[in-house]
Amino acid sequence: MSITVENIYKSYGDARAVAGIDLVVPDGHMVVLLGPSGCGKTTTMRCIAGLETPDSGRIMIDGRPVFDSASGIDVAVNKRNVGMVFQSYAIWPHMTVFENVAFPLTMQGIGGTELQERTFEALEQVGLADYAKRGSSALSGGQMQRVALARSLVMRPAVLLFDEPLSNLDARLRDRLRVQLRELQVELKITGIYVTHDQQEALALADQIVVMEQGKILQIGDPVDIYQNPKSSHIAEFLGYSNIFPLASIEEADGLRRIEIREGGRRLVAAAGYSVPDGEDAAICVRPDDISIQHVADGSAPPESGNTFVGRVTLASFLGSHMLYRVRDDDDAVWEVLSKDISRDITVGSRAALTIHADAIKVLPVR
Ligand code: ATP
Repeated sequence: MSITVENIYKSYGDARAVAGIDLVVPDGHMVVLLGPSGCGKTTTMRCIAGLETPDSGRIMIDGRPVFDSASGIDVAVNKRNVGMVFQSYAIWPHMTVFENVAFPLTMQGIGGTELQERTFEALEQVGLADYAKRGSSALSGGQMQRVALARSLVMRPAVLLFDEPLSNLDARLRDRLRVQLRELQVELKITGIYVTHDQQEALALADQIVVMEQGKILQIGDPVDIYQNPKSSHIAEFLGYSNIFPLASIEEADGLRRIEIREGGRRLVAAAGYSVPDGEDAAICVRPDDISIQHVADGSAPPESGNTFVGRVTLASFLGSHMLYRVRDDDDAVWEVLSKDISRDITVGSRAALTIHADAIKVLPVR
């Protein structure tokens, strides 16, 4: 099973929602569409499902064209063999878990042993076979989500489309369910597309991430690659690089790059990498977990040298496994630091030294 999308365009009146999307989802892979609200993720997915008709382009599911503007093919939604899991799971509270999952089969006139077998198979796949007789209103949010997944799986779809299915859940449940969903997807070899604007969710679930903006694809890559090598500061920002400063100048000598930040003029050393063409706007991008932080006692000499500098702590927020700090340096630039070292000395108002390894500083084009 696979999905191929070729050069899809879709406008609503004058507004272009999707502007030339190409993507391939290989068999058993999960591709996540990641991007800000309004970037065209849902429209792309609805075009694949057949809920929207693209203006032009071609879509194939399992090698079969389901939409092709050139040859006038437009297969109806219920003939595309696509399952969908939405944000609102639309579980009927007056039905049992079994009845909810069996519902699409009933609609298709399937009954008897086939209905029993297929419904139990789907319930087993999501680990809910023991809940078959339970009323659906007596389920947790996570269980309801699994019922919704089972109800899609019962149709044995070629592909599954997920539209922010976890976004209505509280943070802890969401974290747990995203791992479970990834486990299930890998185990059942589901070929799917998942839409989200949450970078953590995208990184955790995807074989490939497609970063979108204004109806276009900005970057495609596997989660590790895309996280480590964003193509622009704009994408970096979206992936959680919270230290982004415009670049003023860059000088290369002896394999090192001396860079200067425009605001405040701080000079740092970065490892080699992207060369900024003349006249192009660039930025330096550093992930908060790539900066180390140390307490500096008041009155002691600041350890300023190379990529180490001192600032004043403006935020110290305990996140359980990490501390999140904000530190304002002498040039008034504010740095965000995520540290595993939980030091009680680093408090708001205290001084701290930040060190950034040259390899952790990325110089990237703004767009
Ligand atoms: P979100 O994360 O908020 O759901 P999205 O990335 O999924 O956003 P889409 O829902 O695909 O974005 O919308 C893309 C653009 O198309 C937006 O500007 C939106 O306002 C517009 N749009 C979507 N559906 C319609 C519609 N039925 N009529 C008119 N404009 C629409």
